[in-house]
Amino acid sequence: MIHYKKPDKSIRECKYKWFDTWDRMVNCALRCVGTPDIHIGPGEVAMDLHIHSLFSHCSISQPEDVILRCVKLGLGGVCIMDHNDIRGSVDAAACAEDLKRRRLIPEEFIVIPGVEINSNSGHIGALFVDQAFPQGLSPEETVRLVHESGGLAIAVHPYHSTGIKDAVFDVPFDAVEVECGAVFGAKLVKQNCDLAHDSRFADMAKFGTSDAHYINGIGTCYTVMELQEPTIEAAREAIENGRCSARSSKPCIRMRKLLGGFSKLD
Ligand SMILES: [Zn+2]
Ligand SMILES: [Zn+2]
Repeated sequence: MIHYKKPDKSIRECKYKWFDTWDRMVNCALRCVGTPDIHIGPGEVAMDLHIHSLFSHCSISQPEDVILRCVKLGLGGVCIMDHNDIRGSVDAAACAEDLKRRRLIPEEFIVIPGVEINSNSGHIGALFVDQAFPQGLSPEETVRLVHESGGLAIAVHPYHSTGIKDAVFDVPFDAVEVECGAVFGAKLVKQNCDLAHDSRFADMAKFGTSDAHYINGIGTCYTVMELQEPTIEAAREAIENGRCSARSSKPCIRMRKLLGGFSKLD
């Protein structure tokens, strides 16, 4: 039987040595602001479907640590969506299989394969794919290739500086990210809120994702799916039929709840 072996640090995409210290500092700061609250009802599963690993140039997170953190938070599924690189996603699948065999994570934990693609207008997410895609194509062409390969196309953080902006309305996406842990600032929050309520996306799956580059950033935003059963096939069916909603548990929201709780004591 082949055992999972963690990817060696030397193959990581981020070559800056100072990033190890930076990663520790950010994780420490995130720990200080508490743990995300994951809320689900009966028949629902929460997932974080946009997380980076050491196969991205901007993260050194190990896929194994990502999976264990997700399970600890109460998430039922994950997608490692590295920049233009499918290796993190492939590694996560092998890692989850090994963790299940060793009974360290639940058998029903779902790992969806995916990748984040640089189009010529901004980032586009692809789920249920087993390959990377050419960079620098138009959003239309990128989404066409994702669909041709059998995947689903996600409009990730459309109004972020690296998002595709108004092209979100012109291309046949399968889901749109309307809550993103990497989105800060009142203007971006409002643009996301407008997207969530835009009638053109009324029937489309709405995603909340952390876009976490650090382990303790996982789950700051998440997607809740109504699933008949906790399987990858059911997850795909829920996305295709729009049975996904976005939730947020960003540190600022948790602080507001906490302070609100104190003010109620007066
Ligand atoms: Zn991105
Ligand atoms: Zn990302």
